Amino acid sequence: MDTTQIITAFLSVGLIGAILGAVLAYASKVFHVEVDPKVEKIAEILPQANCGACGYPGCSGYADAVVTKGTDITLCSPGGQDVIDQIASIMGVEATAGKAMVAYCACNGTKENAKDRFEYYGPEKCSSAVFVSGGHKACDYGCLGFGECVEACTFGAMYMDEKTGLPVVIDEKCVGCGACVRACPKDVMKLMPKDSKVYIACNSKAKGKEVSDSCKVGCIGCKICTLPNTTPSGAVKMEGDLPVINYELPDDLVAAKYKCPKSCFIDKGDAEKSAEEIAKEKADWKAADAEKTAAAKKAALEKAEAAKAAKEAGM
Ligand code: SF4
Ligand code: SF4
Ligand code: SF4
Repeated sequence: MDTTQIITAFLSVGLIGAILGAVLAYASKVFHVEVDPKVEKIAEILPQANCGACGYPGCSGYADAVVTKGTDITLCSPGGQDVIDQIASIMGVEATAGKAMVAYCACNGTKENAKDRFEYYGPEKCSSAVFVSGGHKACDYGCLGFGECVEACTFGAMYMDEKTGLPVVIDEKCVGCGACVRACPKDVMKLMPKDSKVYIACNSKAKGKEVSDSCKVGCIGCKICTLPNTTPSGAVKMEGDLPVINYELPDDLVAAKYKCPKSCFIDKGDAEKSAEEIAKEKADWKAADAEKTAAAKKAALEKAEAAKAAKEAGM
């Protein structure tokens, strides 16, 4: 190759580069979209977890939605109240209080409690196991135990308990992003308010007999927990054959916890107590409840007798 050819090649490449540069510069001017500076400001203060808790694929998508669509400013659960306050200040609106949520496993079908209906040899993923007749567990609604929820948690707030075969949430680390909830193919992972202590550890919508045949601790749909003398606030209601807790109503779930024949109500506060303390609390509650029931029966009897006497006196 002689010198002329080399110079020509250089000039050609330079010319092509200059033309492409000009085209790109023109295109960037023509297609330029004005970005509201508020979007950038909000994107900067979001935690960059890109966890999807807000319902958008990433933090920048949420920032854009807040500014351009007026989306609720309380949806970033990892950011908490601090982020809500900062977004409110950028948007010039009043800060609303966000409800801190935490994940829980609505299944107590441990290796000991829940039966398997067959041996599963496929890939060790819940989303794969579920394709084989809905999973190897005898209960159609229970945890499959391969920890896909744990993998989905980018906050290190979960682990699999080897002994039980169930996922465990570390409340202090959980930001309530809901990634584990979305990852679970059995809808076993759920969210509850962080300041509440009691949840129902069963997800089965099956009838009582079917539940009892597959799991020792599954809800049999007896409705005891929903009775007015168990939860006077009405905080527990049946949805089909499974009760649900309305966390908006007063938290009077102690009786449900002690009366449930399957011990479906799990009290996180019990984790800090010894077995003896828990047993004593239960015995004390039962004694007080028996006393209350006896007093109510006596009062009803006295009322009936008084009504009868009044009727006789009037005759
Ligand atoms: S446990 Fe679930 S809700 Fe909590 S941080 Fe992890 S993925 Fe999010
Ligand atoms: S809770 Fe769901 S995702 Fe997690 S181990 Fe159980 S079945 Fe799998
Ligand atoms: S008392 Fe227990 S078994 Fe009965 S419906 Fe309520 S949670 Fe289910």
